[in-house]
Amino acid sequence: MRLSRYFMPILKENPKEAEIVSHRLMLRAGMIRQQSQGIYSWLPLGKRVLDKVNAIIRDEQNRAGAIELSMPTLQSAELWQESGRYDAYGKEMLRIKDRQDRPMLYGPTNEEMVTDIFRSSVKSYKDLPLNLYHIQLKFRDEIRPRFGTMRSREFMMKDAYSFDLTREAAEHSYNKMFAAYLRTFDRLGLRAIPMRADTGPIGGKLSHEFIILADTGESEVFCHKDFVGFDTPDERTDFDSVEGLQAIFDKWTSLYAATSEMHDEAAFNAVPEGDRLSARGIEVGHIFYFGTNYSEPMGAKVQGPDGKEHFVHMGSYGIGPTRLVPAIIEASHDDNGIIWPASVAPFDIVVINMKAGDQACDDTCELIYAALTKAGKDVLYDDTDDRAGTKFATADLIGVPVQIIAGPRAVANGEVEVKDRKTGARETMTIEAAINRFVA
Ligand code: ATP
Ligand code: MG
Repeated sequence: MRLSRYFMPILKENPKEAEIVSHRLMLRAGMIRQQSQGIYSWLPLGKRVLDKVNAIIRDEQNRAGAIELSMPTLQSAELWQESGRYDAYGKEMLRIKDRQDRPMLYGPTNEEMVTDIFRSSVKSYKDLPLNLYHIQLKFRDEIRPRFGTMRSREFMMKDAYSFDLTREAAEHSYNKMFAAYLRTFDRLGLRAIPMRADTGPIGGKLSHEFIILADTGESEVFCHKDFVGFDTPDERTDFDSVEGLQAIFDKWTSLYAATSEMHDEAAFNAVPEGDRLSARGIEVGHIFYFGTNYSEPMGAKVQGPDGKEHFVHMGSYGIGPTRLVPAIIEASHDDNGIIWPASVAPFDIVVINMKAGDQACDDTCELIYAALTKAGKDVLYDDTDDRAGTKFATADLIGVPVQIIAGPRAVANGEVEVKDRKTGARETMTIEAAINRFVA
């Protein structure tokens, strides 16, 4: 991508409305734009990051055996009257009428809809287990939308829904998502700690919130500090192994960890004082097992091996991609801007032409840009005629992991500089060496 032909509206000034660093940096880097309170456009740079986050989420959902579909944002009120949540949900639900005056709503979540899909076609235990997910916009008319896309009214959610014949089978499905979440957050460069959580309006029996520790987090959390160093389940994790997944669940729930709603002061005080971590956190995911809370009122049942009809046991599993992007920034930035983990960086490499219009600089940059692009890298080429200082500031601000800098003096020697955004380390090397480092 040539910056001269891209759309990346950088702000020079610090936006006054932004209270936390991620919101400030997302606005300054031209990633998002607020359209009305709590409703955002994702501009091209932001969209690239969001897509990479979603790709990782999708990959881990698929690995755990979940199947992707897509459900609409608008739902009919009737479904929610069936489950009994239409009145209970309150003012967070955006209620709309269509031209025939039929009550509709913008979905805040999809338990009812997916249960309807399930009951319309699944009739036998032989079709279980089943886990269906989508990545779709949601709307919740939050009392206090704030911090940019961290708490917005329209936001994206990956929501998965599992269906099983028995409670034991449903617990295995829960453990699959539990392990998938640990892997997902790890690949996003985050350390998320599962904490016992309140089941809230979804209702349920078993629930964990996945929390990232951050000073700007809205939740107050308490946990054992050893969680920070726990190993994440690796690629060889067998999602069909009931014992294997139970062992992962047991290990990751073996120490104290709870949000303030579930906090047990006495249990926390039993943790040795030096091991206690009481901090603030950002909730990036939330999983629930809620048994037959929806299948019973909505009549979702299957025939069991005993020939009888059974209401299915369900769980739901949410991750907020549009909250994760700012959460990653909260965890990874410095005074100059964002520092993206490579897995979600909008570009892999930025090529900075310090003197656009200078033949040697132009030729060198074109050569590098073409070679790295051909090798499958996402390259941003800063070919604008801005001052070098401005280009450096922009590159640091948008947080691309590697900068390749071509200035007239180095280029005259057949060399460029390679800078690591995270460490700030700079290395001078031949043009060929710079290309080879990233092509190999
Ligand atoms: P919170 O407690 O932060 O209001 P919640 O418990 O209501 O969230 P869930 O219903 O558990 O949220 O939704 C699943 C995930 O969706 C959350 O873990 C979070 O990542 C994301 N999410 C929920 N509400 C918002 C929001 N207003 N803006 C952005 N992301 C959100
Ligand atoms: Mg929650």
